[in-house]
Amino acid sequence: MTIAKAYKVRLYPTKTQQELMIKTFGCTRFVYNKALHICQETYRTSKRPVFYGELSRMLTFWKTTTELSFLKAVDKFALQNSLRDLCQGFTNMKHGAGYPKYKSKHDHHDSYKTQFTNNNIAVDNTYIKLPKLGHIRYRDKKTPQGKIRNVTISRTPSGKYYASVCVETEDVRELPMTGNQIGIDLGIKGFCAMSNHEKVENPRFLNKTLQQIQKLQRELSRKSKGSSNWEKNRIRLARLYEKATNQKRDFLEKLSTRIVSENDVICIEDLHVSGMVKNYNLAQSILSASWYEFVAKLIYKAKWYGKTVIKVNRFYPSSQLCSACGHKNPLVKDLSIREWICPVCGISHDRDINASTNILNEGLRQLEVV
Ligand SMILES: [Zn+2]
Repeated sequence: MTIAKAYKVRLYPTKTQQELMIKTFGCTRFVYNKALHICQETYRTSKRPVFYGELSRMLTFWKTTTELSFLKAVDKFALQNSLRDLCQGFTNMKHGAGYPKYKSKHDHHDSYKTQFTNNNIAVDNTYIKLPKLGHIRYRDKKTPQGKIRNVTISRTPSGKYYASVCVETEDVRELPMTGNQIGIDLGIKGFCAMSNHEKVENPRFLNKTLQQIQKLQRELSRKSKGSSNWEKNRIRLARLYEKATNQKRDFLEKLSTRIVSENDVICIEDLHVSGMVKNYNLAQSILSASWYEFVAKLIYKAKWYGKTVIKVNRFYPSSQLCSACGHKNPLVKDLSIREWICPVCGISHDRDINASTNILNEGLRQLEVV
């Protein structure tokens, strides 16, 4: 349900920013033409194509030479994308397009594309942050919303600057109102429990990855630092962390989308997790820490789809109250009690489901007060 969307906004760069942009247009053109020449020569002499990987390595080398060190001054993603463009041009030939042409300064197609990595690009209401250029003022009725993928910067022959911001966003039309409301309690054993009596377990595949991480960490601590085996394990460990992070993100993404699509009002605890995670195992602590991430996703998706998230005060005794009669049972403070029977009304409770029902009731009460 994610879709790509582009926002084109007018940029108002400073004199210095304009100079750097023009320089970048020139450098991307230069790199493109130089690579095209290499592709032609290579084909002429050895009858073989040159692929992106090889061109990219050449680019890295060019930057180290004195004559071409000026390439270092501009956005590296712009240069890489210029090479990708060329390769795409060769691919397009297979589908009937013509042989890629050299780019001239005089065609007035001044543009380059940069990539989102490590928050190098950001947008607020008035500024867009771009690699090497810093914050550039822009003006448009709409602020680009969503996860930024790439930005194409261009200049018209008349000297106007634009940024086309490509974002990944979710399709709004797919989520109708359902009339449902839900309370969610962060689980102590599983991931969370919900007032519709559903319990969401921690994903098993993630637990497996986390176990592998623990095992590898133990092995790593036994190997001597810097040895080739140590190095190998270190890389494997880094990959496993990455895998665990991706699995976690994927899990949170799917769960939050499902909850927001199934419910109109979502009540959650406003939790400070830091105190809770101390004594858990690694798997549990990573997942508990992801509660914030989960809540953030719920909030932005709810906002996006016109649904409501209500945070219930963390000092509200959601676990101790009987959701049927309101009796407060302090004995339930003991975390090891998973099930209990209300001494007043006699109803038996699952600890977490009862808590989530209380969170829902308290959230709805807050909603009415507002
Ligand atoms: Zn009761």
